[in-house]
Amino acid sequence: MGELFRHLLLAFEEAEQAEKEGTYPIGAVIADGRGQIVSRGRNRVFSEGDCTAHAEVDAIRGAGSLLISMSARRIVPNEYTLYSTCEPCPMCACTILMSGIKRVVWAANDDRVGAIRRMKQGPHFIERFDTITYVAAPYLELENRQRAMMAKWCTSRGLPEDEWKPLTVGVANARSWT
Ligand SMILES: [Zn+2]
Repeated sequence: MGELFRHLLLAFEEAEQAEKEGTYPIGAVIADGRGQIVSRGRNRVFSEGDCTAHAEVDAIRGAGSLLISMSARRIVPNEYTLYSTCEPCPMCACTILMSGIKRVVWAANDDRVGAIRRMKQGPHFIERFDTITYVAAPYLELENRQRAMMAKWCTSRGLPEDEWKPLTVGVANARSWT
């Protein structure tokens, strides 16, 4: 089992905990350049009543000053990778940008709210987003695991779950962009 897969599984542990707590089933972990996990986060929007408490933001907050140079008082590019069960939204994409994290891996694409792919295509802060690399939905099995959790979550709230139907082929081939 590769590192990508193992770290995504850890993010899923967090997503399952978030699900138990009655909020979006999304989890995230941050690994350093040697692959050691330095922080874990999960969605806490409805468990803590905080609309900014997304899994990625939670993990970045947990990593604290590890991600920045306190002595130089600068946000400097670092060797950390953020793993999330779902493609980061605009808020999380910008938080990633401001944290100096340069690599993001996610289990499931989010074609509605997911932002990193779109921000890398658009004009805004593109010279900064250009420095972020990502791996989108490398494992169909994990993509569908997240999609099933999101569908269940939507149903539990009385919302349509159409956008989270399982994928069968194609879209989830290993992809990474720089
Ligand atoms: Zn988010």
